[in-house]
Amino acid sequence: MLLRQKTEELEERNLSPLATLSRDSRGRKRWEKECPVRTAFQRDRDRILHSKAFRRLKHKTQVFIAPEGDHYRTRLTHTLEVAQIARTIARSLKLNEDLTEAIALGHDLGHTPFGHSGEAALDEVSTSGFRHNEHSLRVVDVLEGQGGLNLTYEVRDGILNHTGSEPATLEGQIVRIADWVAYINHDIDDALRADVISQAELPQDCLKVLGSGHSTRINIMVSDLIRASQGRGKIQMSPKVERATKKLRAFLFDHVYTNPRAKGEEEKAKSLLKQLYYFYLQHPEKIDAGVKGDDLEQAVLDYIAGMTDRYALKQFNLYFVPSQFKDYI
Ligand code: MG
Repeated sequence: MLLRQKTEELEERNLSPLATLSRDSRGRKRWEKECPVRTAFQRDRDRILHSKAFRRLKHKTQVFIAPEGDHYRTRLTHTLEVAQIARTIARSLKLNEDLTEAIALGHDLGHTPFGHSGEAALDEVSTSGFRHNEHSLRVVDVLEGQGGLNLTYEVRDGILNHTGSEPATLEGQIVRIADWVAYINHDIDDALRADVISQAELPQDCLKVLGSGHSTRINIMVSDLIRASQGRGKIQMSPKVERATKKLRAFLFDHVYTNPRAKGEEEKAKSLLKQLYYFYLQHPEKIDAGVKGDDLEQAVLDYIAGMTDRYALKQFNLYFVPSQFKDYI
């Protein structure tokens, strides 16, 4: 018997009846011979990990734009934190950990440079709108490899629906909520580091329920998720912990994501990307991979969305800053 088949049998024997078994996958768009060693979901995880878009996450903003300190999160470390939290929940609930990990590692591949301000900028200028989750799916379906990574339906569904509508699998639901748990906690940690907020400003009633330290809070949220979801066919928190988590998230929106200090930089980042967008529409020959097909706007969006923060800055310097002034930047 092949190693893959042994792993598939282990899944059937050990996982919950609610788990998504790799053997039952709805499959790939293009037929492929199965790997003798890895299950379909393990193979998807590896394809994502080895993609170029995954490596670029290390130079993309999470919340703080091109931060000076080495300890701030980037889109890559955010992704790894989501994956680790999601795997803990999946394993505890006897759901498919490989599927969960694949979705988590792929969920933000479509993020623009400069975090959500970059996403907002492209959404404002483009004719059909821009959402990072839809673009993550485009990255794995079309842009990576030779005509996409040809991932399974379940991984693609989890990536697309990590925000917006409900994922089709419990493993997808785990990633959606692990994304919250990760960013709420690490964005508080980074905001404290940047002195954007102080510990005393955090809503004290939330801390009473969730704990006042970073690791305690993650622990309480994750343990609560596991308890409240056990055997339920739904991934959820208890009402009390959910209320406190949502309130903490609302606090972040009011005090960190829209903080005037961070906001000023955001406006600059947005205007930079918008200028690049109009520039490439007029100069398609400057798009690295060229324009395939006749949808120029899509090619421009793909190119800009794929950039790291520093690559976008470099392109802006190249096309908008006279070379004699470059030393002043
Ligand atoms: Mg995320």
